[in-house]
Amino acid sequence: MSIKVLSKQESSVIAAGEVVERPASIVKELVENSIDSGADTILIHIESGGIKAIAVSDNGSGIASNDVELAFHRFATSKYPENGDLFNIETLGFRGEALPSIASVASIRMVTRVVDERNGTSVHMDNGNLIEVLSTGCPLGTTVTVTNLFARIPARLKFLKSPSVESQRIYSLVQQLSMAFPLVRFRFDVDGKIRLNTRGNGDLRNTYAEIFDPKTANSMMVVESGDDLGYAAIHGLISSPDTTRSNRNFINLVVNGRCIQNRSLAFAVEDAYKGFLTVGRHPLSFLFIDVPKEDLDFNVHPAKVEIRLKDERQVFSSIQRLIRNSLISMSPV
Ligand code: ADP
Ligand code: MG
Repeated sequence: MSIKVLSKQESSVIAAGEVVERPASIVKELVENSIDSGADTILIHIESGGIKAIAVSDNGSGIASNDVELAFHRFATSKYPENGDLFNIETLGFRGEALPSIASVASIRMVTRVVDERNGTSVHMDNGNLIEVLSTGCPLGTTVTVTNLFARIPARLKFLKSPSVESQRIYSLVQQLSMAFPLVRFRFDVDGKIRLNTRGNGDLRNTYAEIFDPKTANSMMVVESGDDLGYAAIHGLISSPDTTRSNRNFINLVVNGRCIQNRSLAFAVEDAYKGFLTVGRHPLSFLFIDVPKEDLDFNVHPAKVEIRLKDERQVFSSIQRLIRNSLISMSPV
């Protein structure tokens, strides 16, 4: 077989596979862009599990009219650090891959306006082709609408689960993101029915109550490590021993501002409850962990949900110490 270099269109569909696995990955990328834009209000709408439509609106910075088309180029980003120091990134995005990836596997329309322009811009891309760019009146901020996901890639479409399963995945993702950013107001509706609505007042217990349920929120303990825990600064909510779940899905971790998955750190939470919970029951947590940024690499996974920590053991034991101490201090003598 002879070797050929893939066309731009072919290679972008392949690259998109790393970022856009399913509707939830699109929601994640769009919401992260909204957060990076400084928005304090983010509205998320999905239809048929996001397969039919996903719309994310924000009141953030918007994109200047002469930059909008550029945003859809691969590796085009306003976030790459000037000195190239990927350990010094303050934004959720930095790879410049999300918009071109989404645009190569779906139909996407972006309507956006910055504060110092009277008119905004509307861009429509479809499966990698630019369909239309218009000047338009619109509010400050950005609305992105994605439709016809994988319409031209039946193999990928077939791989998706039912709308209700895809919907559920998006719902849990939005729960995590809205909890991770308690100062941002989130509203999420599924086929027009509101599923989540936060006030964005910054209070963790309050936000937890709005996202999950007030009863669980009330039973959670607020924990906060002082400086004495050393390496990692940790704060958040953990369940008291009498509130448990039958699986580990409620152990949430935010490391340096990003919702991440890490088996070892989740195990640290779980293990700290040893002796407090009966076998087969699992705790709930929403922990914000901050480590020195030079010790953390986010650039090891295309969707940035996995991380590499220079000193995982230190973080592990900081988590354990904080939870253990909190459980012991509140348990009856
Ligand atoms: P990245 O987020 O990694 O930079 P994206 O492809 O997600 O890459 O977005 C490309 C660029 O488009 C961003 O760097 C940003 O400048 C701009 N952008 C995307 N979404 C928004 C938004 N909601 N508000 C403001 N700017 C945005
Ligand atoms: Mg992005």
